[in-house]
Amino acid sequence: MIIDWYPGHMKTAREQIIKALPSIDLFIEVLDARLPQSSANPLLEKLRGNKPCIKVLNKKDLADPEVTREWVSFFDSLQGVKAIPLEAKDRRDVGPLPKLCRKLAPNRGGKGQRPLRVMIVGIPNVGKSTLINTLAGKKIARVGDKPAITTCPQQIDLRNGILLSDTPGLLWPVLADKDGASRLAASGAIGDNAYDSPAIALTTADYLLERYPQFLLQRYKLTERPASPSHFLEELGRRRGCLVGGGEVDLTRAAELFLRELRSGKLGRISLERPGEVNPATEAPAEE
Ligand code: GDP
Repeated sequence: MIIDWYPGHMKTAREQIIKALPSIDLFIEVLDARLPQSSANPLLEKLRGNKPCIKVLNKKDLADPEVTREWVSFFDSLQGVKAIPLEAKDRRDVGPLPKLCRKLAPNRGGKGQRPLRVMIVGIPNVGKSTLINTLAGKKIARVGDKPAITTCPQQIDLRNGILLSDTPGLLWPVLADKDGASRLAASGAIGDNAYDSPAIALTTADYLLERYPQFLLQRYKLTERPASPSHFLEELGRRRGCLVGGGEVDLTRAAELFLRELRSGKLGRISLERPGEVNPATEAPAEE
């Protein structure tokens, strides 16, 4: 259902992370707050050893605040980990990060100490470049709507004792787990041509009908809860004029509209997974 489209340079990134590891004091792992587990690659946990890690739960503006709080508690219970939800564009959110870095790596970045070297890692499109720009206070990395746009290695001096390495920090999503891959596709983390929109929309609608039925009722002005995800998609298509000749619903258009509105937050603040609800992801093979 989902094409594993990630190219071979991901393997190179893995090797580069291993190579850079000795000089890194701390990792900032950028995750999508709506799906913190599926947007993580367990490879980082394997590689980082006992180096501290800040899990940034980015795009918090799109996620359910209550579920995000559950994720923060979950991550904070892990050794050497501190989680912080934020919106990468928001300077007030990002402001406390340097202080948090220094707290987790107290022997670095102070007067007379060597700089604190931080590597930002995460899957494509999770908000790494946006976060780097906000941390640096200027536009440094290229920010784009399409995944995998960050390609050039950079080191950024934040002039506060912290040296930031942008790349190599490009991890790849784990698509081996079908459900996790489906949530990644729903979130917009996977290229448009790599999945079947109606199938992803139906799986997502199923979850939303269970967890957030009121958002669907409100957004699409439904008087009663649809009996099934396919009834929902049909109804949405009819109401929004996604029709083909003969008045039948164009399911692909209806699915794309639904996924677009979900991703842009028009349905409401929605989380696609909760701690304890999903299986731990397994590492994707390093080879293509
Ligand atoms: P990268 O591939 O990890 O470097 O991701 P980018 O920084 O290029 O961001 C990918 C997309 O996510 C861009 O369209 C950003 O504007 C958007 N984005 C980044 N951070 C946030 C956030 O906190 N909230 C929302 N809603 N969008 C964000």
